[in-house]
Amino acid sequence: MEKMEQLFAALNEKAEHFVDTQQMSYLEGVLDALDTALAGDYVLPTADATKDDIRKAVQIAVLKGMRKASQPNHQMTPDTLGFLVGYFVEQFYQDSDNVTLLDPALGTGNLVFTIMNMVEKVEATGIEVDELLIHLASATAELLAQPITLYRQDSLEKLLVAPVDAVVCDLPVGYYPNEEVALEYELCATEGMSYAHHLFIEQSMNYVKEGGYAFFLIPATLFESEQAAQLHKYIKSHAWIQAVIQLPDGMFTSRAHEKSLLILQKQHAEMRAPKEVLLAKVPSLQNKNALGLFFEKVKIWQEQK
Ligand code: SAM
Repeated sequence: MEKMEQLFAALNEKAEHFVDTQQMSYLEGVLDALDTALAGDYVLPTADATKDDIRKAVQIAVLKGMRKASQPNHQMTPDTLGFLVGYFVEQFYQDSDNVTLLDPALGTGNLVFTIMNMVEKVEATGIEVDELLIHLASATAELLAQPITLYRQDSLEKLLVAPVDAVVCDLPVGYYPNEEVALEYELCATEGMSYAHHLFIEQSMNYVKEGGYAFFLIPATLFESEQAAQLHKYIKSHAWIQAVIQLPDGMFTSRAHEKSLLILQKQHAEMRAPKEVLLAKVPSLQNKNALGLFFEKVKIWQEQK
């Protein structure tokens, strides 16, 4: 058995034990299994495991829990998207010794931990409103020994976070219910409720340093809604679009679930917009040649921008 499978088997057995003996969901069982392992009350076979073995084992257990009790906000950013964002963070910050990173929609932390396991110089801050998810993120961070500061709060309210070098965010999509808070935003809807995903973009730009980058996993239809003109105007006056990357066909179950990667740079008085916006589509992950060409294209774009 691979190390990751061994870890998952141990975590799963303990989580199932909690489900059978105590009135709790499987996801809560996973959290208790992680907490008891961290308290030293049982041993997870982490010896010889890489940080990514541990992250993947937790990821599989959490996915199992999410499938068993589906809740609309319980969504995890899958590996493939995490690796892609991680690749761009690595490319954009290759000359920096350390990178401060904020994820204002942390969820389970899978996206951030995928990036942190790839780009070791990252120090992160994560914000999440859901209590169970942020506890899972906290236990996972401790197990991975990754430096992350966590806040459980509504990310669209004021944050106690100093401006960061980069933001990453798999945007929560839908309407934002707190209309009073929405009024603070330029992207507050002129009529009806505001889109949470638009407000998250604006809030991310509020907390990234000038010249810093924001990496958003966006719904592929982001620029097609009736509020798109307002979003375009906002982006034009605060940021420079660096790249819009379409994800491979077949990765999503339907057009409504399709996502793209949008990379923005917060404007800086002494910097200029990129000569060319990178518009590209990630080929099928099975097509190694096409993937190689895609990464080559990104490299050339970066050298010329
Ligand atoms: N990247 C995450 C991961 O790997 O697990 C998944 C992010 S999921 C697409 C979006 C997350 O945003 C959900 O966990 C949801 O609870 C959180 N969220 C939604 N609205 C929020 C708000 N106003 N403040 C903080 N978190 C929020």
